[in-house]
Amino acid sequence: MIFNSTIAAIATPNAPGGIGIIRISGDRALQIASRVFIPVSGANIAESKGYRAYYGSIISGDEKLDEGVCLVFRAPHSYTGENIAEINCHGGLFVTKQILRAVIEAGAEPAGPGEFTKRAFLNGKMDLAESESVMSLISASGKQAASSALNTLEGKLSGEIRSCRDKIVTVCATLSAWVDYPDDEIEELENGEIIEVFSSVKSTLENIIRRYDNGRVMTDGVDTVIVGKPNVGKSTVMNMLAGYERSIVTDIAGTTRDVVEEKVIVGDIILRIADTAGIHETDNLVENMGVNLAKKRLDRAELIIAVFDGSNALSPEDEKIISACEEKKKVAIINKCDLEKKIDISNIEKRFDSVVQISALTGEGRENFEKALTSLLIKEDFDTSAATLTSERQRACCVKATEHLAEGIAALQSGVTLDAVNVCADCAVQCLLELTGEKASETIVNDIFSRFCVGK
Ligand code: GDP
Repeated sequence: MIFNSTIAAIATPNAPGGIGIIRISGDRALQIASRVFIPVSGANIAESKGYRAYYGSIISGDEKLDEGVCLVFRAPHSYTGENIAEINCHGGLFVTKQILRAVIEAGAEPAGPGEFTKRAFLNGKMDLAESESVMSLISASGKQAASSALNTLEGKLSGEIRSCRDKIVTVCATLSAWVDYPDDEIEELENGEIIEVFSSVKSTLENIIRRYDNGRVMTDGVDTVIVGKPNVGKSTVMNMLAGYERSIVTDIAGTTRDVVEEKVIVGDIILRIADTAGIHETDNLVENMGVNLAKKRLDRAELIIAVFDGSNALSPEDEKIISACEEKKKVAIINKCDLEKKIDISNIEKRFDSVVQISALTGEGRENFEKALTSLLIKEDFDTSAATLTSERQRACCVKATEHLAEGIAALQSGVTLDAVNVCADCAVQCLLELTGEKASETIVNDIFSRFCVGK
């Protein structure tokens, strides 16, 4: 696809760093780069071959802005499939912005969010699932998330989805031939054979979905709430996990009034934690608002971390909390283990999946907490080399495909006409085409890329 505009953006983060990169992509990328980058060798960037690196001066008119390196890629052998110049400069915020301005004055247009990757997709350099994995790779906060995004980027998922699709398409082709040419002698597929193909594809897709759901613990994180009566140390626990002061910790009961959300990494697991005002009754209006928020958040949570003060006996309020945490995965933290123990934990042990003694103040027992979470949340080894979904959109496509296949199987078993079966199979294929982007609407494509950062 030919785009008229040549786009440019700062590809490195909006922060000071060792190197800043200004990326230019499009038909005129090399001409534009040649106006702002003068190689010391005297070479002309506009005439350069691909896969070349030049050292030289970065200029704006007569003014020298910096010294740096310019990388040249020639279409179609580049990330976007277009000509690309990447100017590497010193990573100061001011310098990179000055250079971007010079590049725009030389004829480039500012790139929108994700526009480089969108061009790569539209030029057939990668499909939609692979493009999405670029974003997952950038935002990955753990090892597992990064390696599974990388293997999707390398085409593992797309390959498996295409193979599923091809199996259904082969069946569809035969079914269509029967429906369209009933008098021709086309070899008949037994219903049983079709059911077998549909079932095997369905189970492959279900495995992919299950892996995603399991892996989400390590990629997207687990919706978590911390509950406990005032002053047991919820904020201190949260701060210990987050590694820095987030909520105001004081010893006046009921200081944590609103719900503060934080993403923390505990071992391989990402917790999306809401530190709440506890779920006790209160007359204080402001605190009551926090309490109501806490209750709502509690309904939504997948994991509950209940904190108790080990240096005090259990109170009726604690008992209320113990019985409020029904039907969730739940870990009890017996906090303040650096103080003399006065708590009787036998009741807690009966009601919780796991009980760990820690001191949020000193960090003692943090590893036990990590172990408890791992055994509760990670049900199977996360195989990062297997095909992995990287977004809820992809999951929804997979789920819809399995539903259509299930309908097809039910139709075959109940003896419905074959064209009805064919419709189910076709719907399943459409879902898989949408997943890889071969049939995704412009709205979906635009929505996906709008969530990227500028410069990617
Ligand atoms: P919250 O109301 O449940 O959020 O409790 P805070 O986190 O605000 O803690 C209440 C008080 O308990 C503060 O003075 C903390 O310093 C103290 N505290 C929290 N955790 C520990 C701990 O592990 N050991 C001791 N000795 N004090 C703690």
